[in-house]
This record gives sequence, C-alpha cells and structure tokens, in this order.
Amino acid sequence: MSKKIWVHAEVADGKLLNVTFELLSKAHELAEALGKDTVVETTLLGSELEEEARRLAEWGAETVYLVDDPDLQMYSPVTYVPVLAGLATSHGPDIWLFGATAVGSTLGPAVAARLKTGMAAHCVDLRINEGGKLSAYVPSFGGKVIGEILCPDRTPQMASVKPAIFVKKDPVPVKGRIEKQDLSAWKGKLGTGTLKPVNVVRRPPQGMPLNEAEVVVCGGFGVGSRENWQLLEELARYLNGATACTRPPVDEGWSGEYCMVGTSGQSIRPKVYIGFGISGATHHICGMNEAGVVISVNRDEEAPIFQVSDFRVAADVNSILPLLIEAVRPKT
Ligand SMILES: Cc1cc2nc3c(=O)[nH]c(=O)nc-3n(C[C@H](O)[C@H](O)[C@H](O)COP(=O)(O)OP(=O)(O)OC[C@H]3O[C@@H](n4cnc5c(N)ncnc54)[C@H](O)[C@@H]3O)c2cc1C
Repeated sequence: MSKKIWVHAEVADGKLLNVTFELLSKAHELAEALGKDTVVETTLLGSELEEEARRLAEWGAETVYLVDDPDLQMYSPVTYVPVLAGLATSHGPDIWLFGATAVGSTLGPAVAARLKTGMAAHCVDLRINEGGKLSAYVPSFGGKVIGEILCPDRTPQMASVKPAIFVKKDPVPVKGRIEKQDLSAWKGKLGTGTLKPVNVVRRPPQGMPLNEAEVVVCGGFGVGSRENWQLLEELARYLNGATACTRPPVDEGWSGEYCMVGTSGQSIRPKVYIGFGISGATHHICGMNEAGVVISVNRDEEAPIFQVSDFRVAADVNSILPLLIEAVRPKT
C-alpha cells in the first residue's frame, strides 16, 4: 500500500506561507527515502483559497484536501482541529508536517492529541530511518545535544518545523488534484462556541525585518548592558542591517523577542551575520547556520560559536564595538 506524507499548508491574508513550500520540498525528499509509491499531499483550510490550492497542486502536492468556507477564514481550534483530525481519520497519512508558526505550533499538537499520536515540535531536521520511520531531530538539554524523536507505534508521525529551517526547492512536477470537502460534512462534530474576529491589530514592523536583511548584527549576553545594546543597534543601522539577539538579551529586557534567532525564535539566512558576545548554543546556532559569512566576536577563544564562524575575533565587545562604529559611521 502506498504511504502518504502530508503537509499542512498554512495561509496568512489568503496567501500560502513560504514554510509550506519548504515543508513540501522536505516531504518529497522523505518520500524518495520511503519508496517510489509514497505520495505527498496537503491539507488546506480557509476561505477563498481555490487559487492557492491550484498553486499547491502545481507545486508538488499530489492531492490537496481543501476545505473552503467563510467560517474557516480565521484560524480557530474549534473548527480547524476536528476538521483536520477527521481528514486524517478518513485518509490515514503516515507522516504529517506542520510549520512551527504561531498557528501551526498550537494547531499541530491539538490535532495530534485528538488522533492520540505524538508530535515532535520545533525540529531542526527530519529523516527516514532504517526502519522506514520518521526520525525527528530536536535540540534538547539546553541545546547541548540534538535528540532523535521517534513515534514508531502510532500514525500519523507528526512534526513541526520553523520557517527557513528547510530550503524551498524547485516545484516537483506531479499531476496534482484538488479534493474539495464541504464543511457541512462536519456538522455536529465541530466544537461548540465560535470565535469571530472583532478586529485585527497588526504590530508595526520594528526596524528592518530580519528575514529580509542582508546583514544581521546579533547580540548575546556578552553584550553586557542596555547601553552597549544601543551601540549594537547603531552599528546595524550604519551597515544597513537588522539587529537580532539570543535568548538572554530578551530576558534582560535589552531586546524584544520578535528579533530572537533560534529554535524558539526566527531562522535567518543573511549574507553576513556578525555575532557579539554569543556562546554558540545549539538553540541559537540552528537559527543562523545557513548565513553566508559568519563573523563572531567573543572574548573566550574556546567559545563554541567559533566552530561555525568564518571569521573569529577573540576580543572584548566593550573595546571592539566603539571601534567598529567609528569605522563605519557616515562621515558628515
Ligand atoms: C527550550 C529552549 C529554547 C531555546 N531557544 C532559544 C532560541 O531560540 N534562541 C537562543 O538564542 N537561545 C535559546 N535558548 C537559550 C540557549 O540554550 C542559550 O542559553 C542561549 O542561546 C545563550 O545565549 P548567549 O550565547 O547570548 O549567552 P551565553 O551562553 O551566556 O554566552 C555569552 C557569551 O558571551 C561571551 N562574553 C561575555 N562577556 C563578553 C565580552 N565583554 N566580550 C566578548 N564576549 C563576551 C562569553 O564568553 C560567552 O561565550 C533556548 C533554551 C531552551 C531551554
């Protein structure tokens, strides 16, 4: 019997998120490892999504299970969880991948619980092991080790992966078809109580978006103070780049969580990454190891970040930051 790998396709403002295509690319890699008769399919829920469903079918989804209804315009667990769990019960996917986005991180585990299966969250890699099962890799123990998570006895084997962990490859030429499902088929099975959007408030972007910046200046605990953090931001501005951070600067209140890089933050691929006072924990590295050129400043010559750096500067942030700013400050 053919195996099925599903990708839950996520949309925002009616458009498919990039992470969907990244997961589809990975799903095709996994399908190749599982054997020729493995199919890659997607689930897509929302409103007025016919065009996006066609994009998926042209891009590499052999079947797109589309549930299109005005009541699904905004994500709500009350509707999305029973519908997705119902689709899985009817069609029996072996593997199901979700984006570890704000929605995917709550939706995926809720669907997994409904199906009485497990879900590996925030994976940094996915492979098919010798037994033909999904091996999901997740940083563990403060990022010191990468744990291999298995769900050998239940299906679907589920995993979530953050945006930009996998690369979006070229579309896979398949003859995709759209299988429309009517929301009324779930009548009586949907949760009670409906969530209706009253108002959507968008947070205005702060500085240059991290995923668009060619240069990222990233600070860690070694930056040492709020005053130094301002110097870091000044440097990023002069380099026409964005500021990013590790977890401790968020805890210290020097920086916001929106610019944290790593397993619980964003994954970035700038042309140049300059890290200041960062030790190099796996939780952070897995969000920046696809950067082009990595330059690191750390006063500890043995800092693990140096192992993934192209240029290593063993120096004190306090002495090097002002010098760098002086060097790049526009001359008036
Ligand atoms: C479930 C979980 C999820 C996590 N997710 C993330 C995540 O998404 N992103 C993330 O970043 N972290 C995350 N973390 C935290 C992560 O494990 C590390 O604790 C964190 O990345 C360490 O940040 P750091 O390198 O800035 O600080 P530290 O590890 O404290 O390192 C500071 C470095 O600065 C150097 N230094 C100190 N003073 C100076 C100076 N004056 N000049 C030069 N160098 C100096 C030191 O030598 C040291 O190497 C997570 C942790 C857990 C448990």
